[in-house]
This record gives sequence, structure tokens and C-alpha cells, in this order.
Amino acid sequence: MAVERTLSILKPDATRRNLTGKINAKFEEKGLRIIAQRRIQLTKAQAEGFYAVHKERPFFNDLVSFMISGPVVVQVLEGENAVQANRDIMGATNPANAEAGTIRKEFAESIEANSVHGSDSLDNAKTEIAYFFKPEEIVP
Ligand code: UDP
Repeated sequence: MAVERTLSILKPDATRRNLTGKINAKFEEKGLRIIAQRRIQLTKAQAEGFYAVHKERPFFNDLVSFMISGPVVVQVLEGENAVQANRDIMGATNPANAEAGTIRKEFAESIEANSVHGSDSLDNAKTEIAYFFKPEEIVP
């Protein structure tokens, strides 16, 4: 296994319910380290750009509206096998299918308002980290 970095976002449903600490504890308990973190209000253009891969999907407009409905916390997580490790900590996209103990099982409100984003591959992680962070903002 290799030490990797992945991009994580705590979504507006999580910030609205004051869950950022509880969610961060899940990452840290499983050995992921938060090496960059910033609370921001996404613009519509930023949210559309971030989710551009989904722009033909029926849920795209609702997803963008949701992602700009309140603050988000963008983060870089580092650790062994971090991309897959974070996907395991997050749980399935639809909380109804998420395993016990995962963030989405414990906290998600719906398939859309599912509390967290995590990169789904190492290549995407590199692109997504660069979307939000300059190299000097990442402090391992
Ligand atoms: N999403 C949605 N409806 C769907 C599928 C996805 O609103 O039917 C939203 C949800 O917030 C999800 C995001 O779109 O997290 C990106 O979808 P993806 O399939 O990439 O899931 P993820 O990688 O976040 O588990």
C-alpha cells in the first residue's frame, strides 16, 4: 500500500447540522490525516465545474443547487490507500445502501444530501485537490 491524498468535501447538509467535528473524527479514527482544510461558500460556477462529469445526468441541476445551499468544508486527507480508505469510511452514495458505521449511514439525509464527497480514483484525487488547493496550502 502507498500513502495517498484524496479530496474530501463536507457538504452543506453536514455544515448546517454542525457535524464537521463528528465527521472529521471518523477520518482521524481510521488513520487519515487532515493536511489541508478550508470552509467556503461555493459559487454556482465552481460547483458546476467540480461536478462537470455529471452534467448530463438528471440530478445535475439539483446537485449544484444543493452544493451552493450553504457552506462546505474542502479538505485534503492523507494516509495509506487514502482514496479507497475514505470511500470505505464514507459508505455507499445512497445512505439506504450504506454499511453500519459509515458516515453516510450515520449522518446522510438522502442520496443527494449525503454529507460527504470523496474522490473515486487517484487520478481524480489529484485533479480535485488542485481544484481547491495551492500546493503551499497543503501541510503534511
Ligand atoms: N447524486 C444524486 N442523485 C443520484 C446520484 C448522485 O443527487 O441519483 C449526488 C450525490 O450527492 C452524490 C453526487 O451526486 O454524492 C455524485 O454522485 P456519484 O455517483 O459520483 O457518487 P459519490 O461518488 O459521491 O458516491
